[in-house]
Amino acid sequence: MKKLALANLPTKIQHFSRWSDECGKQIYVKRDDQTGSEWSGNKIRKLEFAVDEALAQGCNLLITCGGIQSNHCRATVAVATHLGLKSAVLLRISEYPPLEGNYFLDRLMGADVRFCTREEYRDHRGDIMQEMADAYAAQGYKPYIIPEGASFGVGVLGYYAAMKEIVEQEQEMGIRFDTVVVATGSGGTLAGLQLANLIHGYGKRVIGVCVCDDAAYFQDIAARISCEALPYLFNQGEISEHEVSKWAASLKPSDFEFFEEYVGIGYALSRPEELEHIRRMARLEATVFDPVYTGKATYGMVCELREGGRLRSSENILFIHTGGLFGLFPISRTFPVD
Ligand SMILES: *Cc1c(COP(=O)(O)O)cnc(C)c1O
Repeated sequence: MKKLALANLPTKIQHFSRWSDECGKQIYVKRDDQTGSEWSGNKIRKLEFAVDEALAQGCNLLITCGGIQSNHCRATVAVATHLGLKSAVLLRISEYPPLEGNYFLDRLMGADVRFCTREEYRDHRGDIMQEMADAYAAQGYKPYIIPEGASFGVGVLGYYAAMKEIVEQEQEMGIRFDTVVVATGSGGTLAGLQLANLIHGYGKRVIGVCVCDDAAYFQDIAARISCEALPYLFNQGEISEHEVSKWAASLKPSDFEFFEEYVGIGYALSRPEELEHIRRMARLEATVFDPVYTGKATYGMVCELREGGRLRSSENILFIHTGGLFGLFPISRTFPVD
């Protein structure tokens, strides 16, 4: 597919033998936390398509938004700087932020930063980014606005392509993953995976574990942005005009599966059992999950792999490690390592 070639792809798939022994299933982890270092994580796969479109439109400034420790903003800043573009990020804060983690990297790589409150972010982030775009345009820039998490039509192509990558790796490895699990924060990763699964008839169960909001909220988003992705898939030669109309008419929220029980006490807030789980997995498999996304999602997996859980019917499970390591450091001083 036509896109920028920035990420280290394909990312490797590792068998987690001790975790597998523990739960009596075969657990594999796809290391999308290793897509790069500055742009590590899942967002780079979406940005490869979105920023390709930005360049095709002649844009020279990327504007996006997220929480103060947004992995997506940091990856966007890294891509912009790498390509010689300017970057501006709208960051949601509740108090004046210390210079650490992803926010530190945003600043280090030269982003323009604008702060807003939770309420402004929730109700007006689109308007504020448009206002920023207008101000930069008046200075002669040509801005390209990327919505939260790059979860929009063209961004969905990132994990549509990743699902095809997974199927190629299955063939090389001689394995079939019946279930694919990922953390969900804005819906685009799950949408892309499931859209490819549906269109190509792979027959997998694809599950997003919500780290904020609820299942109904993400089902609506996933169905909507998957529809938005269809014309892009047509332009890429992936599907026919007939398939565009067929899928546009048939895609519905219930095509997308989410577990909503593992948000815990809220977005980017951790319960003691989640931190203990992160510590346990670090010692079991030498793999560090982050507190905001992958820690919650894998904690949910552990719970659902128990007797009576919703993953008991799965045999070969692939978890996609979507990154987030930089978000662990701001909480390291209070982390229960012992
Ligand atoms: C953004 C993010 C996710 C969630 O992906 P969405 O496409 O926004 O649902 C998961 N893990 C990490 C580390 C992320 O930064």
